[in-house]
Amino acid sequence: MTGRQQVNDALFIDCGDGYEIKHGDNAGEIKYRRPPRARFECVRCGYASPIVTGPTAVKNFVAAARPEHRSICPATHAQGVRAA
Ligand SMILES: [Zn+2]
Repeated sequence: MTGRQQVNDALFIDCGDGYEIKHGDNAGEIKYRRPPRARFECVRCGYASPIVTGPTAVKNFVAAARPEHRSICPATHAQGVRAA
């Protein structure tokens, strides 16, 4: 252990395995043999999100998971709402 850095939460991203369609009606579309997946875990409160699957869902999830959880994380609130 190197100490110093404290990990409060973690995003796990699996980019999947896909290829782009080169020809035909669906050209430019990405076909996935194994779709991208992502999940989020919060070390502070022990929260673990469900696994999100699919390129669009994963993209949105990666952008939103951390701030969204921060706003509802009981560990964050236990420390942050003391003034109220
Ligand atoms: Zn949390």
